[in-house]
Amino acid sequence: MQNVVNLSCACGTVKGKLNVVNGSFFHVHCLCCDCQSFASYLNNEEKILDEHGGTELFQTYPAYIEITEGRENIGCMQLREKGLYRWHTTCCNMPLANTMNSSKIPFVGISVKLMQFNNEHEKMEILGPVSMKAFGKYAIGEMPTDAHPKFPISYMPKIIGFMLKGMFGKKNSPSPFFRDGEPVAKAKVL
Ligand SMILES: [Zn+2]
Ligand SMILES: [Zn+2]
Repeated sequence: MQNVVNLSCACGTVKGKLNVVNGSFFHVHCLCCDCQSFASYLNNEEKILDEHGGTELFQTYPAYIEITEGRENIGCMQLREKGLYRWHTTCCNMPLANTMNSSKIPFVGISVKLMQFNNEHEKMEILGPVSMKAFGKYAIGEMPTDAHPKFPISYMPKIIGFMLKGMFGKKNSPSPFFRDGEPVAKAKVL
């Protein structure tokens, strides 16, 4: 089954579409300090993070996301050299997605905040529940009881299967974040 979800940044300048393909995504919460640092770099923690400092992400293949409007408002940063590329809007400082710093890897973690749903029910039908809360030890305040303190090892085989399937299917491209193998915006390294 496949659903197409509209994407929009907070101010509506950057728009896109996402293919939600069953069996080809993870719906997760990341509580890590890097995601929190990214939100504070964007100076927008209140809009981005939940009460525990968590970021809601939809991890899938780059070939499934398309930016249709406002491409000139895509910015990129890295918290450290060789770190993940953290893509964001420059119009309203909202996160777009995380990718590896190479166009060859079939992985993108998209901010669920971009996804436009009519209501919570529709969101639940399309995305299903959050299947993993990782890096709970970095939570602000008390760690949520359903979070894993770090990264659950039991998840690794699923991730490896996902990566292999993506590599065989060449799902790393087309990507809205790379053109001819080069990032569409130069990353600012903190
Ligand atoms: Zn994180
Ligand atoms: Zn915007």
